[in-house]
Formats: sequence, structure tokens, C-alpha cells
Amino acid sequence: MALIVQKYGGTSVGSPERIMAVAEKVKRFRAAGHDMVVVVSAMSGETDRLIKLAKSVHAEPPARELDVAIATGEQVTIALLSMALEKIGCPARSYTGSQVHILTDNAYGKARILKIDETRMRDDLQQGRVVVVAGFQGVDEHGNITTLGRGGSDTTGVALAAALKADECQIYTDVDGVYTTDPRVVPQARRLDKITFEEMLEMASLGSKVLQIRSVEFAGKYKVPLRVLSSFEEGPGTLITYEENEMEAPLISGIAFNRDEAKITIRGVPDKPGIAAQILGDIGKGNINVDMIVQNVGADGTTDFTFTVHRADYKKALDILQRVAKDLKAREVTGDDKIVKISVVGVGMRSHAGIASQMFKTLADEGINIQMISTSEIKISVVVDEKYLELAVRALHSAFGLDKAPAA
Ligand code: ASP
Ligand code: MG
Repeated sequence: MALIVQKYGGTSVGSPERIMAVAEKVKRFRAAGHDMVVVVSAMSGETDRLIKLAKSVHAEPPARELDVAIATGEQVTIALLSMALEKIGCPARSYTGSQVHILTDNAYGKARILKIDETRMRDDLQQGRVVVVAGFQGVDEHGNITTLGRGGSDTTGVALAAALKADECQIYTDVDGVYTTDPRVVPQARRLDKITFEEMLEMASLGSKVLQIRSVEFAGKYKVPLRVLSSFEEGPGTLITYEENEMEAPLISGIAFNRDEAKITIRGVPDKPGIAAQILGDIGKGNINVDMIVQNVGADGTTDFTFTVHRADYKKALDILQRVAKDLKAREVTGDDKIVKISVVGVGMRSHAGIASQMFKTLADEGINIQMISTSEIKISVVVDEKYLELAVRALHSAFGLDKAPAA
């Protein structure tokens, strides 16, 4: 008998029939003797609908009121799921975030969970009830309703599992686990049985959208055993786990990529202290995040400086740089928003050399030019022309032995 926290996403509760199916599933776990806490998202499309509705009244809705409006999506689902459970003879109680004291800071729309009071949930579990909690929402110290950012129900699930010291946190979604890469790009992509928190964090921040990044950070910090599974098919899903023996870890766990990148180069800036700080300082003041950065060794007392930003910030970053360039008397500013970032990720590379050269050789064999490179302990990323995305990802997936075995 275990304490299990399950989270069901929007598609899993997208219709009355699906809500009934979730209730049946929860009931089966309950019948097996487990204590069950269930976190639900709003029905699919509901949060978008509420945001649109708010914007039809006020083009830039006050943040506090927007949170009040969008938190209602989850409030509907908790009630419906609890009714469904009661209907099939499984006692249940629904709670909003504030009713179970999911205390957050007051950053509306992207609030962070500070504390959860689990007494009330424990009482219900003791009485044999299933506890159904609204995802995505909390309450600040003054009683204001807050929300946790898009996809935030994942974080609610993990946070509740941490607070209750649950045996497992199961995230039910519309895919059956975490894949070696996006199966839409590489049909041979495989579901991973296991992936470490660190790898998952890299995969998530590189664009694999299975889990909200914050939920993975949370799970890693509080060591919550986390599993991603499909709500529509039976299967073991993917366990997100701690690194055990890295000598035995596969070299590479996955290939991630991000299409939302753009790069900017400023050429011929003085090669002296303070220049990078000035360039990036102005970009930072524009509220633009910088990802990769490359600076060349100066030859004639000047140097070139290249960095990448989110594609949505490209025009703005370019404008800022034109101004900086004048200030610094730089030679020119150029940019390219037709680039992508591709990364190989794996804790196994900590204890094995040669991953980078294998990656570069694989790309070279396909005639793909590498424009930028960056590395961390468990990841190597390159920037290439966006037209090579599919080719590059497929070649790397196969070169690192990730393709699934052909059906016998
Ligand atoms: N309903 C919220 C959203 O659509 C939270 C979630 O589903 O995780 O972003
Ligand atoms: Mg989600």
C-alpha cells in the first residue's frame, strides 16, 4: 500500500466520458489499497478560452483578476471528477489550491509555491477518501488567488507529492512517456524507461514539452519519484530518476532541439574589458534572455561577438545592438533568425570522452555546417541552419544508437 499522487492533464479530462474514465482508473488504484491524491488540469482548451474571454473585456487584464478568472478552469474539473468518483462508489473530496493552503508568492501568472499544509488532505486520506486538488493555482499570504504559469498543474502534482512524501508522483498525459527525441521528426524515436532529473531538465528546457520545467526542478530538489505515463494506454511510462551508476548509463539519452532561436553578431568591437558586459547589459535591460555566447580572439585589437536569443526577441535585440554598435564604433551588426539549436544530452558523457567529436563528424558527413557550439557537463549543443534540422536530428539519433530496433 502506497501513497500515490496522480496528475491528469487537460486532454485526459477533456470530456465527461474522459473524466469518468479517470475516475475508474483512480478507483482501481484505491481498490488495490493505495491512498490517492489526484491533481487535475482544466478541461482541454479551457484555460485558453478563459484568457481570450478576459482579453475581450480588457486588452491587458489586471494580473490579479486574470488569475481569478483562469483559476476557475481547474475548479470545474475537481468538482466533476469528485462527482464521478462518488457516482462509482468511491468517496472523494475536491479542493481548490487555497483550500489546501498551497501558499505561493504573489507573482500573478507565474507564482512560486512556498509551502503546503497537508493536514486537511491527511485527514481525508485517513477517512478513506480520495483527495482531488485543483492544479495550477495557489494563494498568497493575503488570500489572493494566484496561478503558477502555463502547464503549472505538473508543478502542483510534484509539490503535493513532496509535501505528502508520496511514494510516487504519476503524471498522466497524452503521450506514453519521454522519448529519445520528437517522434514527429524521427519515427524511430524510442520511449525511455528511465531518464535522470538532470537530463530531463535539459530536454525540457530545450523544447521537449512533456513536463513543465519547474515541476522537474521541484522533483529534483525534493527527490520526488516522478513517472510520466499515458492516460489512454497501459504501460510503464518513463521514470524520472536519480543518477545511479554513470559508468553504466547510456552515453546519450536523447536529442533535443529548439526551433525558436535567432543569432546576432556584432563585429569589430574593441577587444578590452567591459565590452561583453556592455553589450549584454543593454540586451538584459531590454528584458531579453541570452542563451549561447561566443566571442572570438581579437586579431587587430578588435573582436567579434555572437549570441543567440529567442526568435520572438530577434527584432528587438537587433535594434538594441544597432545602438550599442554606434556607441562602440563597431564595424557591423548582422543577424540570422533561420537557425536552430540541436543538443545531445546524456549523463553518460561525464565519464566518456569523444562524444563531441562523434557529434561533429556525424554532422560533417551530412554536409551540415556548425555555426556555434556550446557544452555543459551533460550536453553538447550546436547551432545550424534551420533547413538541416530534420536531417541533423535523424543522423545524430542513429549515430548515437538511439533508433529503436526494427520490428522482427
Ligand atoms: N490549465 C493550465 C494550462 O492550460 C495548467 C495546466 O494544464 O497544467 O496551462
Ligand atoms: Mg501539460
